[in-house]
Amino acid sequence: MRSFEWVDAKSVDEAASLLAATTANAPVIAKAGGMDVLDLMKEGIVQPTRVVNLKAIRSLGDVKLDNSGMQLGALVTLAQIERHAGIRSHYRALAEAAAHAATPQVRNAATIGGNLLQRPRCWYFRNEHFHRVADPDHSEHQHHAIFENQQTVMVHASTLATPLLAYDANVHLTLGKGSSRSVELKDFLLPPSMKRDRDTIIADGEILTHISVPPIHPTTRCAYHKQTERDSYDWPICDVAVVLQMNGDTVASAKIVLGWVAPVPRRAVDAEEILISRPLDDRSASEAAAAAVHGATPLAKNAYKVPVLETVIKRTILAAR
Ligand SMILES: Cc1cc2nc3c(=O)[nH]c(=O)nc-3n(C[C@H](O)[C@H](O)[C@H](O)COP(=O)(O)OP(=O)(O)OC[C@H]3O[C@@H](n4cnc5c(N)ncnc54)[C@H](O)[C@@H]3O)c2cc1C
Repeated sequence: MRSFEWVDAKSVDEAASLLAATTANAPVIAKAGGMDVLDLMKEGIVQPTRVVNLKAIRSLGDVKLDNSGMQLGALVTLAQIERHAGIRSHYRALAEAAAHAATPQVRNAATIGGNLLQRPRCWYFRNEHFHRVADPDHSEHQHHAIFENQQTVMVHASTLATPLLAYDANVHLTLGKGSSRSVELKDFLLPPSMKRDRDTIIADGEILTHISVPPIHPTTRCAYHKQTERDSYDWPICDVAVVLQMNGDTVASAKIVLGWVAPVPRRAVDAEEILISRPLDDRSASEAAAAAVHGATPLAKNAYKVPVLETVIKRTILAAR
């Protein structure tokens, strides 16, 4: 690993001005929990001359939950989300996603901001040699995309993004000095690319300050499932978040988001429409799941994902009852 300078930023403005000094020859990067940054540095994918530690910025560490919805500071850890009683009762799909991400040790350090900004877990991407090759053939693509995989077969790594998209989350960014902008999470995430430095629209020098989520209604039902190959910690084959607004026993509106099956988490719009005005039962869930996987374009070695995904969608819809 190349040696680098370490700076503890005390405020968002200080961090933003330190990050603004980044250049191609002297990259300056932010560090939150460091779970992804450190891996990328050790793998030689990222070689900063200066690392700006955000962990001391207290204003980025709050969870606010009231009638107007939820605000998650960028430094809120996955462990906090997993354990927060209000999140568990109001945004259960998010709490479940946090609880099933990584390991307890990683969840204690990993932050929600860093989670959304992490780079893909593709083994070609993570290999310094392949990373420098303009276009590796990705022939070992067992864990890669089964939808929209013409431009890239890599999938976005964040499993917290899956429920956050189903809850219509927004991402809030600043360049410091009072500037700010908000972006819908669906527009924030970009298909992973080895040619870019990031897989989101965050700009050089920008700090992710918080994530906001609209309020949950008493008629909301939600569920999340992450399907892995083994029971101990693992990256997903796929993950699914379902958020439903109920009108009595029937579905008034539905959001179904599928992670790890497309370059960015994918809304299963056809499946959502099938559920509208119908009761949640085995039949409607089966039809919705079948519609969600219709049109999948699996690769030679990941067709197994299609029936797995279909089953997980059906089970997650039924779990939201
Ligand atoms: C064994 C293992 C299993 C894992 N399993 C899962 C899983 O199942 N699901 C999942 O989603 N993840 C998983 N992860 C990944 C882990 O959750 C992420 O690496 C972690 O969430 C990243 O957060 P961080 O705070 O450590 O980010 P960092 O590594 O500190 O930063 C990540 C990126 O975000 C930037 N950054 C961070 N915060 C900000 C900010 N506020 N403003 C601007 N830029 C910022 C950094 O510059 C860097 O580019 C796993 C990791 C490991 C090691």
